[in-house]
Amino acid sequence: MKGICILGATGSIGVSTLDVVARHPDLYKVVALTANNNIDLLLEQCLRHRPELVVVADEAKAAAFKEKIAGTAVAGTNVLAGADALAEAATLDNVDSVMAAIVGAAGLLPTLAAAKAGKTVLLANKEALVMSGDIFMQAVVDSGAHLLPIDSEHNAIFQCMPAAYETGVSAKAARRILLTASGGPFRQTPVADLVHVTPEQAVAHPNWDMGKKISVDSATMMNKGLEMIEACLLFNMKPEQIQVVIHPQSVIHSMVDYIDGTVLAQMGNPDMRIPIAHALAWPERFESGAEPLNIFTVRRMDFEEPNFERFPCLRLAYKAIETGGTMPAVLNAANEIAVDAFLNRRVRFTDIPVIIERCMEAIEVKAADSLEIILDQDKLARTVSNRIIDQLTR
Ligand code: NAD
Ligand code: MG
Repeated sequence: MKGICILGATGSIGVSTLDVVARHPDLYKVVALTANNNIDLLLEQCLRHRPELVVVADEAKAAAFKEKIAGTAVAGTNVLAGADALAEAATLDNVDSVMAAIVGAAGLLPTLAAAKAGKTVLLANKEALVMSGDIFMQAVVDSGAHLLPIDSEHNAIFQCMPAAYETGVSAKAARRILLTASGGPFRQTPVADLVHVTPEQAVAHPNWDMGKKISVDSATMMNKGLEMIEACLLFNMKPEQIQVVIHPQSVIHSMVDYIDGTVLAQMGNPDMRIPIAHALAWPERFESGAEPLNIFTVRRMDFEEPNFERFPCLRLAYKAIETGGTMPAVLNAANEIAVDAFLNRRVRFTDIPVIIERCMEAIEVKAADSLEIILDQDKLARTVSNRIIDQLTR
């Protein structure tokens, strides 16, 4: 029986994780759940899964949550508030696996704490890895933690790696990674029309049902840019070894090209419970609840090269990793601020890459030697991006 902590339990990945865990009560016990502010759903999850610790990151919502559980069957649950308590949940002694499913930089410290504590880290929160890069990967090596990718593409790549492969190592004889992308909702929209895209249109993804931020990232393809950086780190490869491939049907979730000409692909329906179940059961397998793939309804699979003019965010991500140091953290922070401003209708869809590029140009890159430097640069990039947005909207 393994204990699990879910960071970001109320999000899209958190909910799918609990769905899979509930199918295997003999193998997993929910020890801790964390959320930011959806306390109605959090209460339902507590009644169903009976965690011993709950963390609500937003302090006011935590107080409201404590009132809410009084008089219920889970009145005795230990409830902590605030961002610092997230790391406590992720490092409890009886937690073996941590699902890192907080969105954005807010997930960095608890996810890194889990890695340092030697937990099995199931990584959905790609922003945490993009920001902290080698520091995160080194923490995994030093503690002997297992790091298992949840992002469907990286999970697919992991599954196409040689037997007994562990993340962080370059797989012998793997020449290239073919990182697939659906191309999002605007793959065929005339480039001149992208300026009019609304938040509602941007979050309506054709193949996947996800949180708002990652849905906008999929529409700009910054998601694929972050994933390219994530792949370099997880599989110890160079950016030029990662080929992004637009595959609109999302049946193949990525491929590994070996030196003998073999290309291994992982396929399945677009259902995040598949990579989640894979990582939870690893190195075994168990049921995920996903529908089996009906290969006869697939009919065809298309593959296209991405166009940097349509998707400038992808170009910026390559630029950030090639620059190295703290630039991926700057890229990520600028993107978080720009996406938020777009969702709040302060800037246009096409302003997102403009804000990120200006921010990257304004900030001098530093060596990413310590977590403090990374957090400093993250903060600076947020300030600079907000200033750029003020200029754009004046
Ligand atoms: P979501 O918006 O649905 O959920 C985010 C979760 O994080 C929620 O539980 C929320 O309460 C919590 N959270 C948000 N801000 C927080 C803060 N400041 N402090 C503490 N907790 C906070 O997002 P999602 O779609 O589930 O994505 C989560 C992560 O997984 C992201 O990094 C995303 O890129 C990655 N991911 C998601 C999918 C998907 O299909 N949804 C696929 C691959 C990777
Ligand atoms: Mg993905």
